Amino acid sequence: MRIVVDRADVERAIETYLREPGNDPAEIVAAARTQRLLPLWKDIGGCILLRADGELLAFGWDTPTRLEAIPDDSPDRSMVHAARGWASCRFPDVRGLRPERGLNSIECPTCKGTGRLVGFPENLTCACGGLGWIPTEAGRLTSA
Ligand SMILES: [Zn+2]
Repeated sequence: MRIVVDRADVERAIETYLREPGNDPAEIVAAARTQRLLPLWKDIGGCILLRADGELLAFGWDTPTRLEAIPDDSPDRSMVHAARGWASCRFPDVRGLRPERGLNSIECPTCKGTGRLVGFPENLTCACGGLGWIPTEAGRLTSA
């Protein structure tokens, strides 16, 4: 799966990330540094990362050095939406990262369009990535 992003923006964001990786696991920082990837999202399954040419890749915690391209028909499409939404808040200067709301989008039923989960820790992100909406073609919201 590939998205249209500004290559220079992504490369600058990777540099910014590597200076301040926060408390990200070493596997993510290593992938960012050695493969030149921008981490977008992490959860219990693994991590979604962006290459400067717009290709979206993922790895699982069991195999952090095995990066795989996310296929266009992946059941993780809804996670990609969340990953882009979440990451576009962290890396607002990357043009093209934030998903554009289309006509077929609907208000996120989980957060009722607020982008926030009430009663949960701040670091827990709604399935809409904080955007408050989801594209209907993303299908199921669960990662199952
Ligand atoms: Zn939501």
